[in-house]
Amino acid sequence: MPPHVVVLGAGVIGLSSALRIQAEGHAVTIVARDFPSGSETIDAQSQINYTSPWGGAHNRIVPPTNPAEEREHAMSLRTFDHMRAVQARYPEAGITFMKGIEYLEAPSEAYRALTEERARSRLGVKGFRLLKEGELPEGVKWGCEYDTWCVNPMVYCSFLLRRFAILGGKVLRREVRDPREVFSWNFEAGPVDVLINASGNGFGDENMFITRGQTCLVANPCPVTVTRQNADGSWTFCVPRNFDGGTIIGGTKEPNNWDPNPSLEVRETLLRKFAATYPQILGSESKFTVMKDIVGRRPTRKGGIRLEKEQVGNKQTIIHAYGLGGRGYELSWGGG
Ligand SMILES: Cc1cc2nc3c(=O)[nH]c(=O)nc-3n(C[C@H](O)[C@H](O)[C@H](O)COP(=O)(O)OP(=O)(O)OC[C@H]3O[C@@H](n4cnc5c(N)ncnc54)[C@H](O)[C@@H]3O)c2cc1C
Repeated sequence: MPPHVVVLGAGVIGLSSALRIQAEGHAVTIVARDFPSGSETIDAQSQINYTSPWGGAHNRIVPPTNPAEEREHAMSLRTFDHMRAVQARYPEAGITFMKGIEYLEAPSEAYRALTEERARSRLGVKGFRLLKEGELPEGVKWGCEYDTWCVNPMVYCSFLLRRFAILGGKVLRREVRDPREVFSWNFEAGPVDVLINASGNGFGDENMFITRGQTCLVANPCPVTVTRQNADGSWTFCVPRNFDGGTIIGGTKEPNNWDPNPSLEVRETLLRKFAATYPQILGSESKFTVMKDIVGRRPTRKGGIRLEKEQVGNKQTIIHAYGLGGRGYELSWGGG
């Protein structure tokens, strides 16, 4: 019998891990409390701790300034290549390639040092171009564009789950108190050899915290993904979801804020700031068509992602893969 791997979690990390492990010839079962479903019907309150539905989700350049960021940058490049291959083979997967635009009001040294040569050759960023002064919105000091991708999260995650199932993967909807309990369960595929902890937040990891994000989903289409870093530390961005999923206008980043309710005042601010940055989104009717407000909780970890092997018995291994914060999609195929 091939080794049996259980993946705990059916967010973007659990689903990607399950497919990758399955491709290596292992028998894989996904155990999770939440599974992908239509974005239109998913419950905003009861499933708020399932982060994957509430992500944008786009891929952005973050010029690395330390070894942890170097590692994440390498992960994002591997994910970029994988997404390109998946999109070419499965147009229905929910992935769209487009230009990404970055606008910075107060660029750090890492951005100011980013020449076209360094971005393309050293950092491997495709289609990178620095924007000229006349191309920048008012108040923006630095800008660039590059080739990138966005996903419609639940179209994409549902696609991953369908691929997993058609290739023989098994799924089980269960909630666990402790990941180790799975080792004593009876599975069709036999005893569990390895457990992947892709639970988003881990279990009782004291380094974990949430970063609340409020965004607004609008029906307006947008041909590019735009991110503006404002001088006061706030963010103004859009993420086109495509596949009839509208466009996300964002967004807040609020560490340890557990409020599940969206604020109408915040919505108005997000829409107003984005319209000032990229007025083309308003279209011929000069307005946003709001579909809904979204609140999500990014599973963030002090010290960064936990990607680590733990031996829990003579034969039992847990591989932890959680704490992806605000970058779960863009790093999802980067684990090597
Ligand atoms: C507003 C917002 C915008 C974002 N934008 C982007 C973006 O543009 N790009 C990007 O890359 N990322 C973005 N993110 C971040 C991204 O969404 C997350 O990093 C990612 O979804 C995390 O995925 P995950 O699989 O680790 O966790 P989750 O999606 O939370 O999945 C966890 C899984 O574990 C299961 N689970 C947890 N506990 C238990 C238990 N006790 N028993 C059984 N099952 C359990 C859950 O049911 C679920 O299936 C954004 C997030 C937010 C909130």
